Amino acid sequence: MLEKRIHRPLLGCIADDFTGASDLANNLVRAGMRTIQSIGVPADSQTLNTDAIVISLKSRTISSHEAIKQSLQAYEWLKAQGVERFYFKYCSTFDSTPQGNIGPVTEALMDAIYGEGKGFTIVCPAFPEAKRTIFNGHLFVGNELLSDSGMRNHPLTPMTDANLVRVMQAQTQRIVGLVDYASVCVGPTEIQARFQALQNEGIAIAVVDATCNQDLESIALAIADIPLVTAGSGLAISLPNNWRIRGLLDLNESTDILPPASGYQAVISGSCSQASNAQVIDFCQRGWPSFKIDPLADMSHVNMAQQAIAWAKIHLKNGPILIYATSQPDIVKSIQEKLGAIQASEYIEKILAEIAKGLVQAGVRQLVIAGGETSGAIVQALGIKQMTIGPQIDPGVPWMSVSSPSCQEETIHLALKSGNFGSIDFFTKSFTQLSNLYHD
Ligand code: ADP
Repeated sequence: MLEKRIHRPLLGCIADDFTGASDLANNLVRAGMRTIQSIGVPADSQTLNTDAIVISLKSRTISSHEAIKQSLQAYEWLKAQGVERFYFKYCSTFDSTPQGNIGPVTEALMDAIYGEGKGFTIVCPAFPEAKRTIFNGHLFVGNELLSDSGMRNHPLTPMTDANLVRVMQAQTQRIVGLVDYASVCVGPTEIQARFQALQNEGIAIAVVDATCNQDLESIALAIADIPLVTAGSGLAISLPNNWRIRGLLDLNESTDILPPASGYQAVISGSCSQASNAQVIDFCQRGWPSFKIDPLADMSHVNMAQQAIAWAKIHLKNGPILIYATSQPDIVKSIQEKLGAIQASEYIEKILAEIAKGLVQAGVRQLVIAGGETSGAIVQALGIKQMTIGPQIDPGVPWMSVSSPSCQEETIHLALKSGNFGSIDFFTKSFTQLSNLYHD
């Protein structure tokens, strides 16, 4: 028998960065859920005619204490909207520091939802469409172990261990276990049996293997009644089916229509990931104008930004431009040695955020941002409160429409690209795709 739909959001998500939040919202939309993405915890209670809400935090690399505080505020707000199912979203490369914040936030949410020290949840960053898979508890990026991939050189969250059970266990008090591929490939009933067996052994958090979307479908069915899941965005492709089976969710087909794009086109890249480095080179090789930020130029962030904005104003009318701090690992290392790792990141994020404001004031209405932390800094600086998800450019990266006080709330088309996502021609392809949307 079908359950009766009470009008409240079916799923409430808390994402630890802004690119990850749009990645998650994109997958939910593609799976037919009407989804609202909010920047930070909304100020008021609202009547929400939506299936899912994604609250975007910038909590990945802040102190664990602050990350817990913000995540619990998000949880309380979602609960007050009637949400009963929660999704803590982190990066598909499990980006975290040795202190967290994935473990501490997971535990705080478990305490809040189940009671202190109680409950059970899963860890599943797999996103096979973006080549992130988990086998025997080990996370792979393409064919490489996480610890052999470019993530080992990340400026803020270098990932040097691919064993997710070990990484998660180091961040949590609760005991972490594994549901390995031998169970996952059998199907949902076997996965649930493993969940029960693990809980009987006192295990509260299970890393779950997944190598393809079919595995995620089985996992999604197995967790249908678990109030809290922690995962990358991949699981969100399969999760909505649980509500559809129960007759609680229609197939929404018009979820990704955006208004037509206008204005100048720009890319800002603060990501130093391998993919972003390659995308920057590709953009430059195609002959489009680019401006490189030199963090060692000994200038205030405002002066540095003004220089870049003045350069941009000369080139914007001729097509897309790129402003970037993106550098290869050896350069990043030498900059960090001179400025300090956190100081360098903060300084560069401030420059790029200031530049974004200047570009929008100069008429940019199509903006691609590369880098999770970078996107967080820019979206906050632009005063964006909510995002509408549009068509996907590449797995994990949709075009979105937003408005900003920096341009009297006119529509801006925005794409937030997580460091390692996107094809090599991503920057040029994004704009072509956007203009083709309205001319096909
Ligand atoms: P990703 O999505 O690739 O992880 P992020 O934006 O999250 O990218 O993180 C990259 C971090 O590196 C940002 O904090 C950014 O300010 C910093 N950064 C960017 N360029 C440099 C550089 N040349 N040297 C040192 N740090 C940099």
